[in-house]
Amino acid sequence: MNKIEIDWLDSCPKCDCSEHVVETVEGAKDYLFSGDKVTCGECEHTGEIDADGETAWVNWDDPPEPANAI
Ligand SMILES: [Zn+2]
Repeated sequence: MNKIEIDWLDSCPKCDCSEHVVETVEGAKDYLFSGDKVTCGECEHTGEIDADGETAWVNWDDPPEPANAI
């Protein structure tokens, strides 16, 4: 399993960071596969890559309920 840093995916719903680490078997920096695991480089929120052969995007896990406002 390779871990690749990607900066062109959808930004994280939790912290708005757009640099993520993708765990992929066959993917490369500019080509990812459905099912690859994504972890936000900033807050470690997780999601999964979905790809249609031309482009790839992230299906982020549902963000946790917002905590009570500080
Ligand atoms: Zn994040």
